[in-house]
This record gives sequence, structure tokens and C-alpha cells, in this order.
Amino acid sequence: MDLPLSIVIAESSHRIHNPVDSRKQAELGRGLGLKPGQTMLDLASGSGELLCTWARDFGIGGTGVDISTAFTARAKARAAELGVADRCEFVHGDAAGHVADAPVDIAACIGASWIGGGTAGTVALLEQSLRPGGLMLIGECYWRQDPPDEATVKGCYAETKDSLFSLAGLFDHFDAIGYDVVEMVLADQDSWDRYAAPHWLNIRRWLDENPGHDLAEEMRHKLDVERRNHVRYQRDYLGWGIFALMKR
Ligand code: SAH
Repeated sequence: MDLPLSIVIAESSHRIHNPVDSRKQAELGRGLGLKPGQTMLDLASGSGELLCTWARDFGIGGTGVDISTAFTARAKARAAELGVADRCEFVHGDAAGHVADAPVDIAACIGASWIGGGTAGTVALLEQSLRPGGLMLIGECYWRQDPPDEATVKGCYAETKDSLFSLAGLFDHFDAIGYDVVEMVLADQDSWDRYAAPHWLNIRRWLDENPGHDLAEEMRHKLDVERRNHVRYQRDYLGWGIFALMKR
């Protein structure tokens, strides 16, 4: 049970595996008014940057669960580096169906809502770990602009045009499943670049160092396709944000 190596290679230098940058993550933490001693469960916690930096900056603690052994190891190292290992735990495992032992103040899934089978399912999963009145954080894609054709839909890795909402449509969806959006940070084109562009150098360096590797051809293809999709489609059409929700 692990994340495919191709993703681990492409994101080997990432601390944040999503298109919101460190400044935006810190702004969100400030906006939420996080308090020392609050607890967070982060499903699909990646390299742990959100939990570790919020633990350092706001005194919260908690647990991250992620299916990648490589990212989980980096999350543990980051917790030690930031001096928060005493209150931040990172566990390797499948987060689908994961429920906290005790209710938490903040329940998050940032950029992996497939673990609950989509937005509504992930909200329902997180709800099982959240204390009444707690904050839920969910990272989601949306159409920043209406995609004009099928090439744009596919270039943004959406199955169909209807598989993503517009931003207003996403708000309506949260409303329909009984949640108030109470805060948010959105990716912009610069923060998208901070996520997408390091893939290119990571893959290129890996290719130079591993020319005969079984994955070399696949990684070359990934580099070409992803780079083109980013500049042709994603940067203009694909929105992404972290939404803070409270149950009505
Ligand atoms: N929340 C992190 C990581 C987002 S990337 C961040 O924002 O930086 C998506 C993450 O989901 C990856 O770290 C991947 O390993 C993890 N993942 C994918 N499927 C998973 C599953 N079933 N259970 C736990 N983690 C999963």
C-alpha cells in the first residue's frame, strides 16, 4: 500500500502537495483563529507541512494519516525540524474510513477527496472525527472559468465538465450538504506555479540520474504532458481552494 513512485519522484521537493503556497496556508491559520492546544486530524497529510507549521505558529497538535511512506517519513522529519514532534504524529496508512479515537477541533482533507468517494463523502467521513462546532477543512478543485471544449476538460484532468463545479456551484453544494463555508484561501496562478513547476525540475533531474530506469519513458511522457497541460489549460481554467466549513 503506497503512492505510485512516479508521483513521489515528481513531488520529491514539495513540502506542500497542493497549489496553495506557504503564505496562504499561514494566512488561513490566522484567519481561523487557531488556539494552542487545539487538535487536528489531517487525512492525506502528505509531507505534513500544514499540521507542522500550524503547530509551530499557533500551538495546535494532532495526527496526519497518509498512504505514502516517503511523504510520511518527510512529515515526521519536518515535525522534528520545527520542534513540534511532541504534539504532531504522522501515521502511514489508508485514510479512507479513518476516524479519530477522540473528536478533534479541526478535521481536514486537503486535496484527496477521493478517499471519501467525492466531496460529500469526504465531508461525511471527516464529520465522524469532528467535535460539535468544530472546523472542517477541505481542499477542492473547481472551474475558474467555464471550460470551452473537451481538450480543456481533459487537460485539467477532469473526467467530464460536470465532474467539477464552478466556485459558486461548489458553495451551493456545501450548502446543500448542510455546511456553511466560513473561511477560504484560493490558489492563484503564482501559487499554482509553485506546485506545478517544481514537478518539471524534479522529473528532469530524476531522468538525468536514472536514464535506463523502467519508469524513464513514463516519466518523460509525464513531464511533457503535465507541463503542456499546466500552461495551456490548468493555469487559466482550474481553480483550487481550501474551504473551512462548519455544520449548520
Ligand atoms: N494534504 C497534503 C497532500 C495532498 S496530495 C498537502 O496538501 O500537502 C494527496 C495526498 O493524498 C498524497 O500525499 C497521497 O499520498 C495521499 N493519499 C492518496 N490516497 C490516499 C489514501 N487512500 N489514504 C491516505 N492518503 C492518501
